[in-house]
Amino acid sequence: MADTIEAIKDVDELSRRIADILVNWPLYRQFRYAGNRVHIETPASVYSTSTTHGRLPKVIVKECGICNAVLSWDLDGDPSLRLPGSPDVHTYVCRNCRNTPIAFAIRWVKTEAGGVFFKFGELPAPERRPPKELRANLQPEDLEFYTRALECRHFNYGLAALGYMRRVIENRIDDILDLAYRAAKAEGIPAPDLHELETAKRSRQFTDKLDLAKKLIPRRL
Ligand SMILES: [Zn+2]
Repeated sequence: MADTIEAIKDVDELSRRIADILVNWPLYRQFRYAGNRVHIETPASVYSTSTTHGRLPKVIVKECGICNAVLSWDLDGDPSLRLPGSPDVHTYVCRNCRNTPIAFAIRWVKTEAGGVFFKFGELPAPERRPPKELRANLQPEDLEFYTRALECRHFNYGLAALGYMRRVIENRIDDILDLAYRAAKAEGIPAPDLHELETAKRSRQFTDKLDLAKKLIPRRL
């Protein structure tokens, strides 16, 4: 939700939160936070006015396409950023190969309660394709819907992304029912007989199928 404000304890917690946002949040989604000790405040002296600094995470954790693994990436430069910052670009480099950079364009401002942080650019561009294993198993039409869902999400159009995702689920719901039926049998969950399963699969109502899947899928999943 755009208006949610998250309570943050201190500078370290805010850095950790921003590490997650840099890696996982879509562009333009605003992170609003509140707290008294979230920034580094330097009082005014005879030589200078008071300043406020935010601290970027020194390390983020994400996949490196060259190393083909999830690894630590180090910030290239000073983590301390004077607020309100003008739009700014910061680069992280994969610690393993030292050869792969990722740059984030960010905007970070201070508010009365705390601050607002968001990213408005990322280079290389966020991955627009599903992960390799998933790509190999999707039909061409599903792959196209899934890719569009990811594109919508990157630009913070979450509801539009859900519409495309739903199409993929609809296209594969019969396979999901078969899988759920087998899982229910294996786990001893009371499952309908095969006839009921086949009837649900023939039904044109997507919600009938989802209701059956819900009954069959083990609770721990
Ligand atoms: Zn690497």
